[in-house]
Amino acid sequence: MAWYLSFIDPGNAGGSVIIPESPPAVLQPIVYECPRCSAHFDSAQARRDHFFTVHPYRKPELLLHGQLLGNSETVIHEPVQATDWLLGSCHRASLNGRMMAPDELFQALAECRQGFHVLELSNQDSTERFELRFCIPELAELQRLEDIFNTLFLDNELSVDDVRRFAEACKSLKTAGEYLEGICQYLYGVLAKDQRGGTQLSHAQYKERFNRALEALRNVDRPLARTIRGIINFSFNSFVQAASQADAPALAAAASLFAGWAGKPVRRWAVAQQEAQARLPVDHATDRVLSWMALSDKRQERELDELQQVSASPIWTAEDRTKALVLWLEWGRTCRSTDELRRMARRLLNDAIFAGYAEQVLEKVNQ
Ligand SMILES: [Zn+2]
Repeated sequence: MAWYLSFIDPGNAGGSVIIPESPPAVLQPIVYECPRCSAHFDSAQARRDHFFTVHPYRKPELLLHGQLLGNSETVIHEPVQATDWLLGSCHRASLNGRMMAPDELFQALAECRQGFHVLELSNQDSTERFELRFCIPELAELQRLEDIFNTLFLDNELSVDDVRRFAEACKSLKTAGEYLEGICQYLYGVLAKDQRGGTQLSHAQYKERFNRALEALRNVDRPLARTIRGIINFSFNSFVQAASQADAPALAAAASLFAGWAGKPVRRWAVAQQEAQARLPVDHATDRVLSWMALSDKRQERELDELQQVSASPIWTAEDRTKALVLWLEWGRTCRSTDELRRMARRLLNDAIFAGYAEQVLEKVNQ
């Protein structure tokens, strides 16, 4: 209902204004109507309050595992169930242009494995567009890739040709592309780090290859992928991450020790003794560090000279030299002179991870 105020222009001073003769006005109460549900209110404030609480402006929402999805592309790497999806404030939904009821939509999403899909959700306020990319690998393809890996890299002398052969043999496993990419980058990184196997890469390029491997394997949830991530993290002295790789118990144990020395103790995982997996090629320094750490206390003392030597070796990366230095300090504490301990500990004082550890060693030596 509308109610108009008629008013008279008081301007035009000096002129004359004709005042029309109007019927006597009947004062009616002003009514404020809700534009959405037609409820009536006697003040603008009451209508505003009503509108705010009863008709909040809401965009249609899409939730996966309880998390709101944004409008930018969402990549889905793992199988989803129909019950993992939820819609909020949504009256109409269409998938790739086809209208669907929620149950039908959730079922269709649960069946998506690969490819790009557009979901449009609407309500009275707006329409939202969601882009979903499904990259869910087929388990059979992941397993086939691992079989080929085990055949090619069992007791091997790793070479560039082996990696190429592996990539060639796995080319047809379309949904395992990221897994394949990650493993190949890791192996190229090992070859670069060790400067062996006919690599054309420089030593320094190992880091870039390892980073590319981490990126590609980010969403691959398989023991081999997790172990590779663990080795790379160990190589980068990211011990907390490496310590959580329960698939490689020796690696996790070694990483936990280093994390503890660095003042970041981690919870040790109770790991059941596993069947020995296929041997994963690792770089020489990681292999050396892990074998040192598997030695009994008595044997450790005999390794001090070699540890000291590699801790200054230009062939070793800064991270690996640091690990050797820490092992030397741990094992040399009781049997080496304070002068030597002091000299070695000082070399760690600028290390981002072990500076605090070095200070503690120096404090103890100086007591
Ligand atoms: Zn209303």
